[in-house]
Amino acid sequence: MGDCIFCKIIKGEIPSKKVYDDKDIFAFEDINPQSPVHILIVPKKHIAKSLDVTEKEKELIGSIFMVANRLAVERGIAESGFRLVVNCNRDSGQEVFHIHFHLLGGRKMKWPPG
Ligand code: 5GP
Ligand code: ZN
Repeated sequence: MGDCIFCKIIKGEIPSKKVYDDKDIFAFEDINPQSPVHILIVPKKHIAKSLDVTEKEKELIGSIFMVANRLAVERGIAESGFRLVVNCNRDSGQEVFHIHFHLLGGRKMKWPPG
């Protein structure tokens, strides 16, 4: 946790473009956006990956969906559509081991993902 870049972003030790902040959840612009809207939504609590989510975090994870919905409406991508992506472990390409939800939108996306 001490060297987790997202924990440092949450604490303000690394600068970020904040788009949402409450007592449990923080959201900021991805540094390398993959679509016109690319926001990372993270719990303030350090959870390394989605496999580590337990019963204790049920409400927290639900709240992240509420924040995603709110940001999607604010950014005008709710009706056109968006993706909420959580990568877990090596094959997914997870690079930062503090669970995060990518909110992606503003362009037509392909399926299946690469
Ligand atoms: P992952 O591959 O782990 O699902 O996604 C990590 C994401 O974090 C990537 O989209 C990457 O661009 C973003 N990212 C990595 N380091 C930073 C940073 O220091 N600041 C911001 N805003 N985004 C970051
Ligand atoms: Zn962390």
